[in-house]
Amino acid sequence: MVNRTRLLGVARACEFLARGIVAAGALSGCTYGFVIDDNGDTVGGATVKFDTLKTSESYKGATTFGTASESVKTWNKDDPNSGGHNGLYYLNPNAHKATGDNTALNVPAGWQRVTVSKSGYDSAIFYRDHQYSQSCDIYSSLPYADAKYPVTSATSVSSGGKTPCSLENFTLSSSSTNYEKLPDMLADPRSLTDTQIATGSDCKYKDDNAVERQFTKCLRVSVGTPNVGAGDLHLLGELDSGGHAVNVRQRIYKRNSGYSEKSIPANFTFEDAAGHHHFHFKNWTKLRLRKYDASCPTQGWTNCPELKTGRKVSFCIEDIYTFESSIATGKKYACDTTTGAGGTTQISQGISVGMQDVYGKSVYGQVVDIAGLASGKYWLEVEVNPEHFMTERDYSNNLARVTVTIP
Ligand SMILES: [Zn+2]
Repeated sequence: MVNRTRLLGVARACEFLARGIVAAGALSGCTYGFVIDDNGDTVGGATVKFDTLKTSESYKGATTFGTASESVKTWNKDDPNSGGHNGLYYLNPNAHKATGDNTALNVPAGWQRVTVSKSGYDSAIFYRDHQYSQSCDIYSSLPYADAKYPVTSATSVSSGGKTPCSLENFTLSSSSTNYEKLPDMLADPRSLTDTQIATGSDCKYKDDNAVERQFTKCLRVSVGTPNVGAGDLHLLGELDSGGHAVNVRQRIYKRNSGYSEKSIPANFTFEDAAGHHHFHFKNWTKLRLRKYDASCPTQGWTNCPELKTGRKVSFCIEDIYTFESSIATGKKYACDTTTGAGGTTQISQGISVGMQDVYGKSVYGQVVDIAGLASGKYWLEVEVNPEHFMTERDYSNNLARVTVTIP
């Protein structure tokens, strides 16, 4: 678990460390953060590599990346140039990797895959919607001057101003401990671009009380929910004599052996609508539509209010497509019920590491109300595990947004 007190200290480091930077455009800036271990201690000498997700790709294939990635190491406490900033990495678009090297260390805004590794620790993959939503002070001198790190100032800088910046912290677990391998769900931004305007019976859905309703006009949307964590997401329950799911829980596997189970205040309900006929995990995702304003990803969402109350959607959770092939081991979980010991009917659903579940736009109930909305651009937003009933390694990537145009 992340040490929260330690992270507060990390957040405050921004102002002190964002030196030597000229003002950058809204879509780029400095990227920095700490790598810490499960005890909250900083990890020096870790490699942090950013790859930009191709959001235009089909969600039905595994993610692929171009060659333009940025890689940097965290400072080591033994380095005389670290200034005491053990475990910090720093990507500055206005500095150079080394004298004479004009490569800007710029991470584009938008979805990034971040691979973090260091010997003695299990490598980990994180997906983050990377936005330059913070503002850091510009100082007139660099805090460090060693070519092993991104250090050489490309331009003279003036002090007293502000520059956009983005903080991303990452946690690594030691390979020598039997740690809990937590899952990490995200909403695949690639899937949200697969939408369709519909009316009439194509806009049917069930409300929170399982009563069938219908929007007069709707946006049908595909939603993929990958697991990029250290371990499987595994949800279990048993059926009582009335056919209702009881004892709903999450099983968390440990690195070497064993597992723990945690009851969760969520439920499975039987969904009998066309194309379903199976148990759904309730409130798996939440769909929202917001007013469009280009400034919201960096300036906050006050100017982009929700236009329709977000709607919860249930899924029968299983492995459908590979999402992250570097960690996936193939399909393991299917949407079914099995008979266990003593004739008890068991519900067992999940998403294994690197795989994703997908509910396509043509599936009953995958709809967002757009009745009465003017033509134009909107933010479509999907959040997975919106109530945090399930324990995850990282909740900062549960929400994905794309722009949609309503004709
Ligand atoms: Zn279903």
